[in-house]
Amino acid sequence: MIDTSEKTSVLAKVIVVRDDIVTFELQEEGERHGIMKNEVVFIRPSSNPAERLQAEVLRIRGREADAQVFEDTRGIAIGDAVELSSQLLSVALGPGLLSQVYDGLQNPLENLAVLHGFFLPRGTAVDGLDPNKRWKFTPTAKIGDVLRAGDVLGSVQEDRFTHKIFVPFDMVGEVTVDWVQVGNFTVNDPIARVVESDGRERTLTMTMHWPVRRPIPAALLRRRSSMRLYPEEPMVTSLRLVDTFFPVARGGTACIPGPFGAGKTILQHLISRYSAVDVVIVIACGERAGEVVETITEFPNLIDPHTGGSLMDRTIIICNTSSMPVAAREASIYTGVTLGEYYRQMGFHVLIIADSTSRWAQAMRETSGRLEEIPGEEAFPAYLDSSVRGIYERAGVIRTNDGSVGSLTMIGTVSPAGGNFEEPVTQSTMRTVKTFLGLSSERAYKRFYPAVDPSLSWSRYREQLRDWFDREMDPDWTQRVERMLRLLQRGNEVAHMMQVTGEEGISLEDYLDYQRATFVDMVYLQQDAFDDVDASSSLARQKVTFAMVAEVVAHEPNLADKDAVRKLFTRLTGLFKNFNYAAETSPDFKRYRAEIKALLGG
Ligand code: ADP
Ligand code: MG
Repeated sequence: MIDTSEKTSVLAKVIVVRDDIVTFELQEEGERHGIMKNEVVFIRPSSNPAERLQAEVLRIRGREADAQVFEDTRGIAIGDAVELSSQLLSVALGPGLLSQVYDGLQNPLENLAVLHGFFLPRGTAVDGLDPNKRWKFTPTAKIGDVLRAGDVLGSVQEDRFTHKIFVPFDMVGEVTVDWVQVGNFTVNDPIARVVESDGRERTLTMTMHWPVRRPIPAALLRRRSSMRLYPEEPMVTSLRLVDTFFPVARGGTACIPGPFGAGKTILQHLISRYSAVDVVIVIACGERAGEVVETITEFPNLIDPHTGGSLMDRTIIICNTSSMPVAAREASIYTGVTLGEYYRQMGFHVLIIADSTSRWAQAMRETSGRLEEIPGEEAFPAYLDSSVRGIYERAGVIRTNDGSVGSLTMIGTVSPAGGNFEEPVTQSTMRTVKTFLGLSSERAYKRFYPAVDPSLSWSRYREQLRDWFDREMDPDWTQRVERMLRLLQRGNEVAHMMQVTGEEGISLEDYLDYQRATFVDMVYLQQDAFDDVDASSSLARQKVTFAMVAEVVAHEPNLADKDAVRKLFTRLTGLFKNFNYAAETSPDFKRYRAEIKALLGG
């Protein structure tokens, strides 16, 4: 949300209203004041002067500007007053963000209100950070310290997280700490005063406002007070199919495209629940209002497998439904990413999941249409590609000035109409991300979950993280994984042949490969989200399981016919599934392992 405490004044008047785009003309005073792209303005409808409708400037032409209104535009009339704020669309950063549910403009939403569809009344904004809550601030900076933007002043304890309080990221040059205090404060109380190089004093609170469309570390990187590092570790999701075959790096990017109902939302929930990260930000741009409601009712009831507490303690949810104004939906993704960058700057591993980026792109398309911009493919704006890239590029690993390393991993779903991956949003996303987890309706239809299709999916991190995996898992892990992928491919080919010729038309050797590939699919790619043990498989367990699977597929059974081969693999599959359901500490774990070995004649 925007800091409205600064005085705004009426400097322009509405001249055109078209859906949620309002064109206004600067008055004489307004021209002297000037206007910026992405500046926030407030429209004061003459029909109800108490309302202040927030809008963002998208385009400026001389004295005229077009702004997208974040609210319902009913009742806005020609001649209505427009106030300029001199501020870009911003979020409030400070303690108390975690476990909040926000709308796209960082207005906190009470769960109940969302459940009943009571969004905020038009024209109201609520503080993104609770103005009354007190936090115990412990300074680390001392009087006389010389600091720069992004340096740490001190910290507060936000639940189990040490939340660092920074010198504002936009501070220019060096500042000297003049005064700093310890104690319990609200986010708006002064906690320190610094003197800038030109002698000006500035009082600091625990809150800072940051424009959502501007990456937090950009200036810090330029000044070398933060450094971008190459992602060199996986973000362990505990999903075998992802971690083993299509890994995502910590600080990396991935997308999950798939047709409606293929399991994108459920897969994202599994990833956000089990992944080894500190903070999760869920940006829900739902296809249906119900889907968003599911997200916010489900998360508080889910247990964080890493702490045993509520999953919500480490989560921020930004939610929009298709019934909210498109402009707020378009902004929500930037709001979420900015909050993620803020926690990364503290040295946390952050995961952002956006579901679905297609809805976000559609909001952009609607706005672009109303601005009568020259359309690109399927009427998406010509800048679709660069907008998609702009979002995913905000992922990455950062080392901050105090030596902490944080990461921001970004995973978005794409929901192409009819599951057609040729459409522009899927294509733009594919060109940007480094892991592609393509879901197919055939697999979902067969209830092969997660319905990630290995023949559509890829990960550039398999190569990029080769050293890590070969060191941590097995000296030739990557090579063995690639061999397994070739077997899956081979299984597909045989399956296609069988469709043409029937089972009789293929050799015993081909049939054996087909059975081997099906076995890998059934017991390794597929994973039961509803089983407490199978839902999450640690890397250590993946290593053991993979070795056993490899043993099975390397086995050359001495069997006379296809019937015998099928029978063997049916038994192996059954035993292996039971093995997957057995906790590592249980006697069953050892027992099934021994039975599988015995079946192989070992
Ligand atoms: P999408 O977001 O792609 O439209 P969902 O994630 O909402 O699809 O999944 C649709 C349905 O598919 C779910 O309601 C559930 O019945 C089933 N499903 C998806 N993933 C799984 C899974 N991992 N395990 C079991 N069922 C699943
Ligand atoms: Mg969904």
